[in-house]
Amino acid sequence: MEALVLEKKLDLSLRDFPIERQEEKLGPRDVRIKLHTVGICGSDVHYYTHGKIGPFVVNAPMILGHEASGTIIETGSEVTTLKEGDRVCMEPGIPDPNSKATRLGMYNVDPAVRFWATPPVHGILRPTCVHPEAFTFKLPDSVSFAEAAMVEPLAVGVHAVTKARIKPGDIAIVLGAGPIGLVTALSALAGGCARVYVSDLAKKKLDIAEGLNRAITGVQAGNDDIVERVKRDTDGWGADVLFEATGSPKAAARVFEPLAPGGCVVMIGGQPEPISYDAGAAMIREARVENIFRYAHVFPRCVAMLSSGAIDVRPLITRKFEFKDSVHAFEIAASAPPADVKMQIELPQ
Ligand SMILES: [Zn+2]
Repeated sequence: MEALVLEKKLDLSLRDFPIERQEEKLGPRDVRIKLHTVGICGSDVHYYTHGKIGPFVVNAPMILGHEASGTIIETGSEVTTLKEGDRVCMEPGIPDPNSKATRLGMYNVDPAVRFWATPPVHGILRPTCVHPEAFTFKLPDSVSFAEAAMVEPLAVGVHAVTKARIKPGDIAIVLGAGPIGLVTALSALAGGCARVYVSDLAKKKLDIAEGLNRAITGVQAGNDDIVERVKRDTDGWGADVLFEATGSPKAAARVFEPLAPGGCVVMIGGQPEPISYDAGAAMIREARVENIFRYAHVFPRCVAMLSSGAIDVRPLITRKFEFKDSVHAFEIAASAPPADVKMQIELPQ
């Protein structure tokens, strides 16, 4: 089938690609999905520009894409919750159902998890795929394919906010106004925050952030100091929760400075190298630190919030491309245009 293939670092092609038969075999509890919309993720772009992310190295041609929605075209003999014609979104990581991590409920940290477009597992920038029923979620009519393809990044924000254990009226800080920072800000508000400060170097990204909700305040790093700003606005107390979504060691080193006593820091941004942070500053606040890896158990919640309007991700979708222009789409995404948040690719139907 025709697929967007990362041949090697900086070499993409849209070409016929022989998917192993095993991968396309429909098991009794699987569904076959015709893909509709696929979002371009920072990780897809990173594999394209660097050929690896941490220990995951692209050693053989790999199909990109993991943020997806589509339509069921075939169901396995034991599938009960989905039928042909259902519109769905898919959770891209498939754990071993019998692993210890899965049995303990933290299937996202199962070392055996197979995650789309993480070598050597293929992604879904292709016409169809086979996926387990258990990781495929039906969409209500009120959620579009484009919104549904945003569930995957949104799930990261919702998982982060769940770990933070936000209370109504909390003050939050999000470091980084990329797609993950912005879905985290939206999730924090949906979780009950009174105000979310979003910090980034790029003014355009902060304008987008502030446009999402009047309870979001942009703070331009380099121009304005997030610590001073939040302390000033909270009578010196600080923020209840801080989400680190930049992946920058420099930002991570200062996470406790604007944090209130008893506050929580959630590390979201990937750190490829060991980093240092001020453990003393954490101690005098009795700060709680949470780390997240992708997400678990939140896809249905994300769909429900998109459906009810509790979260609106539509302003984050800034550009769409046709599948035939996928290579071009990735070239643009790799140039990181400051006014773009999420770019998506639509497959022919
Ligand atoms: Zn993603």
